[in-house]
Amino acid sequence: GAKAEGRRTHRFFVPEMDASAKARLTLEQDLRQALVNGGFEIHYQPLVNLRTGMVSGCEALLRWRHPQRGMVSPAEFIPIAEDTGLINDLGDWVLRTACNEAATWPLHVRLAVNVSPVQLKCDTLALRIAGALAASGLDPRRLELEITEAVLIRDDEAALSILHQLRSIGVRIALDDFGTGYSSLSYLKRFPFDKIKIDRCFVADIDADSSGSPVIVQAVVNIASASNMTTVAEGVETEAQREMLRTLGCTEMQGYLFSKPKPAAEVRGLFGPDDVLPVAAVA
Ligand code: C2E
Ligand code: MG
Ligand code: MG
Ligand code: MG
Repeated sequence: GAKAEGRRTHRFFVPEMDASAKARLTLEQDLRQALVNGGFEIHYQPLVNLRTGMVSGCEALLRWRHPQRGMVSPAEFIPIAEDTGLINDLGDWVLRTACNEAATWPLHVRLAVNVSPVQLKCDTLALRIAGALAASGLDPRRLELEITEAVLIRDDEAALSILHQLRSIGVRIALDDFGTGYSSLSYLKRFPFDKIKIDRCFVADIDADSSGSPVIVQAVVNIASASNMTTVAEGVETEAQREMLRTLGCTEMQGYLFSKPKPAAEVRGLFGPDDVLPVAAVA
């Protein structure tokens, strides 16, 4: 009967769930260890102004060097850090470390840091960010926080109020991965963003005749400029994509075409005169 069936299903699934729960627990413990033992590092990926070809900022991207597993992708460990609440301490570490680094960069190079929706639930976030800025000496106007629309989907008044606190410190707020998931234009009304990051799925086929992506990107660029926001295209890998984005009036680009995320010591080398792409390619 249904009961026997249920029990059989139960018996079938439990060992597997145990295994994945154990794996998660191990990862969680490894994450805590890594935070104490210096197992994390930050790589920085340049954002390039499409008109000038100059590096205008860098996004801090967290990397975890696991003793046995090698480099673990943030896509794998960030969700665990979020579930366990460790993201708050980890996020503080990223902010402090990246602010200290960015304080040594030329003044025109901004720092972008990803902030998880979980961090935006903590009402001391603005205070801690102000602390990281003060300790590093980084001008708040040079810090850009990237948040995803997950924050806005929940219509979370508390998170919105924290975003307003952050804005009042002077930091800029960017909407990351725009156009994915349950994107809605109404989110742009709910909070006044400084920047929209157009997800790389619209960039990948932007130079293909048959795709609707150029029309969508043009619409986002128009909406942004009508509302005093700038735009950055993520995942730019080819010259053709860059040329199309420049023509459409996108403000910045980010992607492997210019540079992959690099360790701090390597990314510095991109800020000099070398951060301008060959003139033929820019014109
Ligand atoms: P994101 O914020 O959208 O970051 C952009 C991702 O696209 C990065 O992946 C970057 O390496 C990748 N990318 C950049 N250019 C290209 C390109 O031309 N082609 C392709 N195929 N990919 C490109 P990454 O570093 O693996 O990070 C994945 C996600 O993990 C990030 O997406 C962000 O949501 C999250 N993340 C990373 N660091 C942090 C952090 O410090 N805190 C939080 N909360 N999340 C983070
Ligand atoms: Mg981001
Ligand atoms: Mg993104
Ligand atoms: Mg993304």
